[in-house]
Amino acid sequence: METPNCTKYLPESKQLNHFIYKKGHNTHVYSQYSLGKKMRVLGIESSCDETGIAIYDTEKGLLAHRLFSQIAMHAEYGGVVPELASRDHIRKTLPLIEEVLSEAGLSRSDIDGIAYTAGPGLAGALLVGAAIGRSLAWALNIPALAINHMEGHLLSPLLETPSPAFPFVSLLVSGGHTLLVDVKGVGQYELLGESIDDAVGEAFDKTAKLLGMDYPGGPYLAAKAEQGIADRFVFPRPMTNRPGLDFSFSGLKTFAMNTWLDTKQTEQDKADIALAFQTAVVETLAIKCKRALKQTGHKRLVVAGGVSANKALRHKLDSMKGVEVFYPRQAFCSDNGAMIAFAGAMRHEAMKHQDVPSFTVRPRWPLNELSPP
Ligand code: ATP
Ligand code: FE
Repeated sequence: METPNCTKYLPESKQLNHFIYKKGHNTHVYSQYSLGKKMRVLGIESSCDETGIAIYDTEKGLLAHRLFSQIAMHAEYGGVVPELASRDHIRKTLPLIEEVLSEAGLSRSDIDGIAYTAGPGLAGALLVGAAIGRSLAWALNIPALAINHMEGHLLSPLLETPSPAFPFVSLLVSGGHTLLVDVKGVGQYELLGESIDDAVGEAFDKTAKLLGMDYPGGPYLAAKAEQGIADRFVFPRPMTNRPGLDFSFSGLKTFAMNTWLDTKQTEQDKADIALAFQTAVVETLAIKCKRALKQTGHKRLVVAGGVSANKALRHKLDSMKGVEVFYPRQAFCSDNGAMIAFAGAMRHEAMKHQDVPSFTVRPRWPLNELSPP
């Protein structure tokens, strides 16, 4: 998936950061069981090609969630068409909000705050969620909070039981990001490493595309790899023979293409290349995770983002000795509203201090610019 490059159309908002996270006066130490006063947060995710809506209750947990994926609409173009994505978010957001309210047995007046994705992502798509979220909050006279999409992914494994305690190393592997982060608490994120070119999900999708698979190809490639013959092809493990925690995946895609062109392009060739590609990615990620754990001294690894659904990756990481590994449930690996509602709940004190009716979005918004609630 191409990372959107729409930043030039929107001024970088210093004000946004100020009123989002800096105004909170919350000093209590985070624990997933000490969220303080009960609060029901409506989460709205619209950063790319999924409309995700959920309600998280700080006492009862996740009450309801709904997702509408636009994949079928974008598949015929071989990738996300930003304008179509925005228009579809407009169609789906309000009906899905009604659905989650009904599933949770709540009315609009039972919601105490709204958390919406404000970036990173596609500018138009983000603006839909931001506009609806803030308008609804204004109409209901409740606070609204702009949430960082990658923080949503990062915190999503905390929705599960057992959930990881801080500190931990987070591996975020999605369509637009490959990040290793030292996480000491909510908003305490130190970037350890990232991809210098393609994100893992993007590399999966591009490799799948050149093998003739539909968009988004990651899951198709993973399924095809299950029929592959191990070790028929061996792909490089990029940047593992030098120190550091950065990644590079664009070369693997080229390697896959050259290998594919050298074969008779049978279904077995496709499966063998898919397996060789996936194995190289998985081993590369595992090597860097081990390094990150060693460097930080942490014993917990938390994996999230669309690629965290990959079975081979989970199998490999689960086999690491002396490390506890946590993931979101399959449904919350890719984009969803639950992770945004949850991130809003984690920042509910900051949310209570929101009174600014204006808003903007940030197509680019690095995690390390966040601060604790
Ligand atoms: P970002 O979160 O970086 O903004 P995004 O929201 O588009 O990007 P996600 O929804 O988290 O990304 O993840 C989608 C990506 O995950 C796609 O690239 C998709 O191919 C990939 N993916 C999903 N399932 C699998 C799988 N089983 N194996 C490999 N890749 C997968
Ligand atoms: Fe995402």
